[in-house]
Amino acid sequence: MVVKIDEDACIACGLCVDACPVDALYLEGDFVQVYADKCEGIGDCVAVCPVDALSCPGK
Ligand code: SF4
Repeated sequence: MVVKIDEDACIACGLCVDACPVDALYLEGDFVQVYADKCEGIGDCVAVCPVDALSCPGK
């Protein structure tokens, strides 16, 4: 499972990057990107995002 990112909502705060236990997220420009091959759908990033820019299918 790969996290979905709302690029319009993301404010590039970086909290999700720090929260991800498998280092699947990184900041690029004005929003966050995901390494699809690393994301395991854990959902810690969804919990910390202050603007609800992330969603995890199945969570
Ligand atoms: S926590 Fe939310 S607003 Fe912050 S970088 Fe991640 S997706 Fe963007």
